[in-house]
Amino acid sequence: MRIEELQALAGRYAIDTYARAPVEFVRGEGAWLWDSDGRRYLDFFAGLSVHNAGHCHPDIVAAICGQAAKLAGSSNLFYSEPALRLCERLAESSLGGKVFLCNSGAEASECVIKLVRKHAHARGIERPEIVTLDAGFHGRTLGALAATSKLAREDLFGPLPPGFVAVARDDPDALRAAVGGSTAAVMLEPIQGEAGVLPVSDEMLIAAREACDAVGATLVFDEVQCGMGRTGTLWAYEQLPVRPDALTSAKALGGGLPVGAVVTTPELGEVFDRGDHGSTFGGAPIAAAAALAALAVIDDPELLAGVRALGERFRSGLAAIPGVVEVRGRGLMVGMSLARGIDAAAAATGALSEGLVVNVPRPGMLRFLPPLTIGEVEVDRAVAILTTATRN
Ligand code: PLP
Repeated sequence: MRIEELQALAGRYAIDTYARAPVEFVRGEGAWLWDSDGRRYLDFFAGLSVHNAGHCHPDIVAAICGQAAKLAGSSNLFYSEPALRLCERLAESSLGGKVFLCNSGAEASECVIKLVRKHAHARGIERPEIVTLDAGFHGRTLGALAATSKLAREDLFGPLPPGFVAVARDDPDALRAAVGGSTAAVMLEPIQGEAGVLPVSDEMLIAAREACDAVGATLVFDEVQCGMGRTGTLWAYEQLPVRPDALTSAKALGGGLPVGAVVTTPELGEVFDRGDHGSTFGGAPIAAAAALAALAVIDDPELLAGVRALGERFRSGLAAIPGVVEVRGRGLMVGMSLARGIDAAAAATGALSEGLVVNVPRPGMLRFLPPLTIGEVEVDRAVAILTTATRN
């Protein structure tokens, strides 16, 4: 189908919530995408940090096809080895407690919000509060939206669930002041993705950990975007001075299929009782098989060391581009701010026309989230294209 026909279909039938570039990708392999005209693109977006193992990784394809041919799903009212193996793998690779499987980042946020609220009620807190950071992003469902202060428009979507307080992302004193006897949790992304790849400072993370410990609140890290190897360790917190009590994962966890998870410490793993939470599709064998295959690819010390090394190479290449005023991030989660007068959206469009897919999460900057399986050749090619594309 021609792009004009797709645009007409979208205009007539798709509720218009996305600004789409005029391209249809129809095939992928590793770090490469092909459009419907057969043009090849280097993908430095990976479906917003979903295809961390590269497009159509043969092990993930085999796991999905193999499980689809056996049993796509049954029900959480029965046992399923892929789901339980996935819970085991997630718990043993991080917080050592228990896991709830769902289908997206927003669902993982909802689950953890319920969990920390129930935990707070058990501690005698009648109206529990969750402290978040004001530039954070946790999803678009109502609870997750209430935790996402920038988008939580009461005038458009209200009434929103109460019990959320946002503090500035770089103000440890404000965070300490916001955490008190009613606090159920502090919930944050250790590197804020949608805000423009903004690492939260160690000082802020330590303040959050100490404030939670002082009142018995739960520290939740949203690793939906920055987890699954993106920063060069399986979980972002592994490179940070503090450890959370619960983490959320999604995006790359499913290897391209919709999978989300909440992973807890052993203590928090006992908070929910039967019937407290559920999901029809959560942990379906086909999705769990894909996630196990994705974890097998990504949780590989050699690949993760490569992510750290390539990240450094990429960041120093970007920093040398004229007009780049700041490069930030960790591993292959990278943001680049441009000098005033350089139009980031035009640079992204220029890069796309030169065969490089990048993203503009907010004005004045570009975000890069390539598959973690790229090599130096791809990194250098992206830097070369961006050097030309930012000359606008
Ligand atoms: N949390 C973070 C940090 C995210 O970046 C996102 C999505 O971009 C979400 C939660 C929501 O995930 P989903 O779109 O799968 O609901």
